[in-house]
Amino acid sequence: MTLLLGCIADDFTGASDLANNLVRAGMRVVQTIGVPTGPLAIEVDAVVIALKSRTIAVAEAIEQSLAAERWLSAQGARQIYFKYCSTFDSTPQGNIGPVTEALMDALGCDFTIATPAFPDNGRTVFKGHLFVGDELLSDSGMKNHPLTPMTDANLVRVLQAQCRRPVGLIDYKAVAQGPDAVRARIEALKQQGVGIAVVDALSNDDLIRLGPALADMPLVTAGSGVAIGLPANFGLAPSARSSALPAATGLQAVLSGSCSQATNQQVAHFIASGQPAFAIDPLRIAAGEDVQGQACAWAAPLLEAGAGPVLIYSTAAAPSVAATQNQLGAMQAGALVEHCMAALSQQLVALGVRQLVLAGGETSGACVQALGIAQMQIGPQIDPGVPWCHARAVAAGGAGLHLTLKSGNFGTPDFFTKAFKVLS
Ligand code: ADP
Repeated sequence: MTLLLGCIADDFTGASDLANNLVRAGMRVVQTIGVPTGPLAIEVDAVVIALKSRTIAVAEAIEQSLAAERWLSAQGARQIYFKYCSTFDSTPQGNIGPVTEALMDALGCDFTIATPAFPDNGRTVFKGHLFVGDELLSDSGMKNHPLTPMTDANLVRVLQAQCRRPVGLIDYKAVAQGPDAVRARIEALKQQGVGIAVVDALSNDDLIRLGPALADMPLVTAGSGVAIGLPANFGLAPSARSSALPAATGLQAVLSGSCSQATNQQVAHFIASGQPAFAIDPLRIAAGEDVQGQACAWAAPLLEAGAGPVLIYSTAAAPSVAATQNQLGAMQAGALVEHCMAALSQQLVALGVRQLVLAGGETSGACVQALGIAQMQIGPQIDPGVPWCHARAVAAGGAGLHLTLKSGNFGTPDFFTKAFKVLS
């Protein structure tokens, strides 16, 4: 295998988001769930290893990331890409800075960049400050994030607090002038002893201009945006070939455990268009009812009659979620629903479902694990950040199935119907 780009993502739907951008820029990509145990059986240009290392202890995040780097380097990866969230989700301890420096040490890399810019999703960096839409990161909803509250939009300062190496800035003026100006700025920063530079980017054009200047860097660290400028360094251009998946077969279903605004709209749209939907109430699960059995008994005859796609959802509006969490506790409610959804994904596949939409980051993580999926080939985009994938699943007796992992806030209101049209 001639692996060009080896990627390490610090969470699951973020890995799909990165893989999607690489596929669109011309790479054939496989996403693996954790570090693979052996070489891959298929020929690809990039592998994205999905870890769950965003908020775990620093030492553990470093250990997992280094294990991923060792596997990717052993496959011949010519460049390593450490992918984190476009809102730079981290705590004062990390994990972005410490993982970056551990990877630099392992790769013998004296300089790398850091930029979460993803203009397609409204994340831009100007003079080192991260904007979410029209707001500074520190004014956005991220200031209240339960695990990684972001209260400073100055990424040079945020990253410096996590790093031993001096952190600098490659500003928009250098990026606007093109790759030579960026290279000159990198040389100047290196002379000053800087090891990591935040890079301004306001548009996709900036990211495309940045790409060539990164060609010789052993390590790149970024959100998913920088990925659009890298495949060209390997002589690759966008092509339908990169997103080709096996033909879709089997029955269609949607499992939705996300309670985001976007997902609530998608569920409402699906129901309003007259398609079959079954609601899961966490309080009933907690009361000991066999909700999973009821959902399955509801879905089986519909699927058999060819009614699909069917939707099973716990998606609920904020007041209802709050009421449930008040009674059960947020963690307990989440765990009950995830367990139910995971079991349902297995049962739907046993009923012959081979095209499955999973909505919600945690929800899709639980289902992919329950289905016994080790790796997914990335196919065509449904909406920005959300591609179809193809995977062999233990739960399907080793047969292939198509699935998509939709992170909560992604997708248009008609996502649950549009997705299947993209596949056909
Ligand atoms: P998102 O990508 O929108 O954040 P996730 O699946 O990551 O979606 O997170 C949603 C969490 O909410 C999961 O832990 C899920 O089990 C839980 N959950 C789903 N439905 C409900 C509900 N009706 N009440 C309370 N918690 C719920």
